[in-house]
Amino acid sequence: MPELPEVETTRLGLLPVLLGRVVVSAEVHHARMLRRQPDPKDFRRRLEGGAVRSLGRRGKFLLFEVGGEAGECFTWTTHLGMSGRMSIARPGEPGGRHTRMVIRTDAGGEVRMVDPRTFGFTAVFTPRELASSTLAGLGPDALTALPPAEEMAEKAAGRRVAVKTLLLDQRFLAGLGNIYADEVLFAAGVAGGRPACSLTFAEMEAVRESVGPVLAAGLEHGGTSLDDLAYLLPDGRAGRHLEYLSVYGREGEPCRRCRTPIRRDVIGGRSSYRCPSCQA
Ligand SMILES: [Zn+2]
Repeated sequence: MPELPEVETTRLGLLPVLLGRVVVSAEVHHARMLRRQPDPKDFRRRLEGGAVRSLGRRGKFLLFEVGGEAGECFTWTTHLGMSGRMSIARPGEPGGRHTRMVIRTDAGGEVRMVDPRTFGFTAVFTPRELASSTLAGLGPDALTALPPAEEMAEKAAGRRVAVKTLLLDQRFLAGLGNIYADEVLFAAGVAGGRPACSLTFAEMEAVRESVGPVLAAGLEHGGTSLDDLAYLLPDGRAGRHLEYLSVYGREGEPCRRCRTPIRRDVIGGRSSYRCPSCQA
């Protein structure tokens, strides 16, 4: 398992409540959230009394290092799934019925995970458990460890899978989801349904060059809250990136570059949006 990255912790908004704090209580209200924890009782046992030493992220996984009372070191990981979000609350503040996890620290605040569909999960792993978890198979982080275009082209060679599906494959590149994969492909001028192996090197380079700016713009605007407001920032504000999206969710609306109506297709079972003129 490679070292855990220390990235954009201030953007998580969880910093003041978690970093350097001791976990006073750790409650999970839905058994499904602990489906990746080898023994569900370990979640509480390992977190309570432990100090949060670092906040990090790799791909779509939040990775927090926690030092246990007996000197052990654990990795507390959380994945928000399709509809999860983290929120900060004052102790005792009423939460919605979809509150699945409540963590109290000696800072006095609570970190909660809200997840209506429970596709997300949380777990506290020992180093050995971490090494045999899905996390060990993650590809390089799209934001902090983007590989050179040569390496991406090499991995795409001979792959008949749609290039969009490859971008969503977390073993290829960790961190891109459905919205940002469509935005990257638009910025690169590449149609997502094309077999990955059909891209020229220049096209793969364009895809690679688009990842950073697309993710940076999303972060700048606090992420993309859709109309369902399933995703919100930890302080309850909506992310403002929706209005800046080039193609995602804009079926029938004019392309911001050439005015051609945006098309919706299904690629690998996922709704996919593109401009038929700008993306070849
Ligand atoms: Zn266009």
